[in-house]
Amino acid sequence: MSEPTMPDPREVLRLEGVRKSFNLGTPLESEVLHGIDLRLRAGELTALIGPSGSGKSTLLNVIGLLDPPSAGELYLLGRPTRMVDDETRTRLRNEAIGFVFQFHHLISAFSVLDNVLMPLMIRHGKPSATEIDLARSLLDEVGLAAYADKKPTQISGGQQQRVAIARALVTRPPLLLADEPTGNLDTRTAQSVFELFHRINAQFGCAVLVVTHDPRLAANCARTVQLVDGQIVSDALNSPLDG
Ligand code: ADP
Ligand code: MG
Repeated sequence: MSEPTMPDPREVLRLEGVRKSFNLGTPLESEVLHGIDLRLRAGELTALIGPSGSGKSTLLNVIGLLDPPSAGELYLLGRPTRMVDDETRTRLRNEAIGFVFQFHHLISAFSVLDNVLMPLMIRHGKPSATEIDLARSLLDEVGLAAYADKKPTQISGGQQQRVAIARALVTRPPLLLADEPTGNLDTRTAQSVFELFHRINAQFGCAVLVVTHDPRLAANCARTVQLVDGQIVSDALNSPLDG
């Protein structure tokens, strides 16, 4: 039993004792996350770092309600989620969480604008005029207003990742998760994608959790959480950089 705490109105996500095992070998051998406690607040940009195989993607999939924890509880907007049925879990995910992956999974046959609209089309079919306006303003926000009618193959890798970010934001999620979004981008492009995360975070006020391998990109985030062997070994606020 955890201690009763004052509800924090800015809390978007809270993990309490989250464990995750995959059904291979003995439960101990197959446990990848060993009791994770973590809170994410609105307006907070957090970097998640850690060696390859430490469980970062597993943690993101659990946080993103793609994969249920084996034990512990995950509260999304104050709501416990572990025991909810699949339909409710899908609805919570679609309503509250935006995803950006290393490989952006844009649909090559669709225009940039239609790719951004995709989560809304999946949700309810044809987007409204207001939603199309929102998608265009998001493309503007990520610096791609002029590319709305292009196909993903006609733009660069960095631009494609920006489209994926606009797509993740089109549902106005309170939580944005990004798994190594700059993993296959050059340093300068990666930096500009991170600057975009900073802007989004300030402007939309969502909680953003970004996995990165690059310690310099992590140091620029407000907070850095480090995962080693499925456990959080450090969780610290970064001092703001001067200049
Ligand atoms: P990271 O993203 O930090 O590189 P992962 O979360 O991908 O690490 O993987 C952590 C560990 O969990 C690895 O040992 C990996 O083999 C294991 N793992 C991840 N997904 C699965 C799965 N679906 N089934 C079995 N083992 C998995
Ligand atoms: Mg990973």
